[in-house]
Amino acid sequence: MRKLLFLFAISLFFQFSLKGQPEVPVEEWTGKTILFIGAHPDDDAMSHGTMAMLQDHGNQIYVVILTSGNVGTQDPKISTTDLSRIRKKEEIDALAELGIPADHYINMGYTDGMLELQNKEEIMTRLVRQIRKYKPDVLISFDPGKGKMRWHKADHRSSCWLAADACRAAMWPLLYEGQIIHENLEAHEVREYLLFDGFPEDYNTEVDITQYLDVKINAMLKYVSQFTSSGWSKYEGPEMSAEEEKQFRERLLKRVIYKNDKVIEQFRYYSGSPEGIGR
Ligand SMILES: [Zn+2]
Repeated sequence: MRKLLFLFAISLFFQFSLKGQPEVPVEEWTGKTILFIGAHPDDDAMSHGTMAMLQDHGNQIYVVILTSGNVGTQDPKISTTDLSRIRKKEEIDALAELGIPADHYINMGYTDGMLELQNKEEIMTRLVRQIRKYKPDVLISFDPGKGKMRWHKADHRSSCWLAADACRAAMWPLLYEGQIIHENLEAHEVREYLLFDGFPEDYNTEVDITQYLDVKINAMLKYVSQFTSSGWSKYEGPEMSAEEEKQFRERLLKRVIYKNDKVIEQFRYYSGSPEGIGR
């Protein structure tokens, strides 16, 4: 009897500890369409190792960024227009490092820092259109939270709630039906989710990105205006001095997560109807 109870406890432990993990490990995914939705042209950086691997393994990745990132600087000489252009190039160059083509990058051009104050119906219409157009199997996004709301800074929290709401709306043919009647689009249900930057206790999936660490770092090095001290306060162009690049690279390597001699990225994986993303 004791042995039976022990086996029952063990099976419960595995059932709960592994709950939510994809049946096929992310490392083995191929032939899927993956949509990333974020707020700023660098929000994808936390998932770059996974995205590089998925791209390499024959998946199609599209990246939708809601704002142009046009206020993210402390350099008084840069205008919002300048910064929009700088960050457009940084993002396209970073995605190129991952092997993702420039025409898979869609920027919706909203003002950085103001996403929460924009017209929600307009954003939802545009996001639902992208979901119906690309028909992703998987959404990658900030985690809106499981059971309780995950606090993120302003645009991040908006982007993940909008992404979750848009996935839900896209599956209902009578919502935004003009897209179906007049634009030849179809209702589409996204069934898998890789959610990052959530509550650490909710992570249920670790992706081994060891082989893609160099690619991840090289992509991060493109965000000169955001992550170098000179680029942030006195931007002089996309080139860095050798010394600055060396320091930047060392700083990035310190932020990487190692586990059992592997480099990993962590997610909450959810599979099922978008109605249940938060359950
Ligand atoms: Zn951001």
